[in-house]
Amino acid sequence: MNRVSFYEYQLRSVASLNARAATPLRRGALLRLECSDGGVGFADCHPWAEFGDADISVQLQSLKKKSKIEPLIQQSLRLAEVDASLRAEGKSAFNPHEQVRNHLLIRDLAQWELTQLAKVESQGFKALKIKVGREPLQEAVLINKITELSSMRIRLDFNSSIDLTVFKKFVASLSFRSCELIEFVEDPFKFDFSDWTEAQKLLPIAADFEFEHMNLKPGSNQLLPFDVLVAKPARQNIKDSLEFCQTHNLRLVVTSSMDHPVGVAHALRAASEVLIQAPSVVLDSGCLTFDQYELSDFTSQVQVLGPSLVRIQGTGIGFDVALNSLDWQPLLNFSENEV
Ligand code: MG
Repeated sequence: MNRVSFYEYQLRSVASLNARAATPLRRGALLRLECSDGGVGFADCHPWAEFGDADISVQLQSLKKKSKIEPLIQQSLRLAEVDASLRAEGKSAFNPHEQVRNHLLIRDLAQWELTQLAKVESQGFKALKIKVGREPLQEAVLINKITELSSMRIRLDFNSSIDLTVFKKFVASLSFRSCELIEFVEDPFKFDFSDWTEAQKLLPIAADFEFEHMNLKPGSNQLLPFDVLVAKPARQNIKDSLEFCQTHNLRLVVTSSMDHPVGVAHALRAASEVLIQAPSVVLDSGCLTFDQYELSDFTSQVQVLGPSLVRIQGTGIGFDVALNSLDWQPLLNFSENEV
């Protein structure tokens, strides 16, 4: 019999997360899966109500009732299984010689000091990802300043907060150099085949949350109006995402779900796996979001060097001491093929 227990958390974000996140307080739960062979694995379940996820209590209840299990918590269980098998072998998920390079995330461009650019570049970062959409035209001015001072690639994420008209005005405000350095614009607005096709004529486009709403015909190899797929191991089977990119000639960016460090660790593990498998398809990742919340029991276990993780103390995805000291609540017992 397998056993699942949980630890519900409420975290205060250190900064505003994106153009759509209303509150810096975020709720989720860590899961502890005890397999019938005695192996134990951990994962995070961090819903984003802003993007259509059911609340954490609904996620947990759906698992407990074993009916209509929410896809997010189902994916968390799969990740916990991966962690359990790594821990059973006494292995760390992270190889210091095969590290994934990540972009630097700028959550609040207006508050970001441009004087940091030289330091960031010298640390080895090759790409900046900027959350935009609050004041697009003012943001374009700041982006032009950044590209005057640096040659790092720029990734922009609107979190579907504008429309095609604003997007066109935004692009018209960018310098030629900015347009050259912009690697992609992620989720500019709600997916609409013809509007995204228009946008793609101006700049490379990436699909993140909007990908989940596209209703693409399975197996079809139609030309898609985007160039990059942003996939989150917390939400998708990352190997399926890689296969989709290979079929449609897209590039893949693996990111964290801006979740608990346990979720971030899983994202880094999965990113490393696909990078080894297909280095020409996988671009720099976006998983270094350990500083999203103040959780020193966890973040003190993480060693980062510039754009890459060096290691996380412990076995599997790490954090052994911090995880074992939590007050786990029983949720569910089930046999192998039940959930
Ligand atoms: Mg995004």
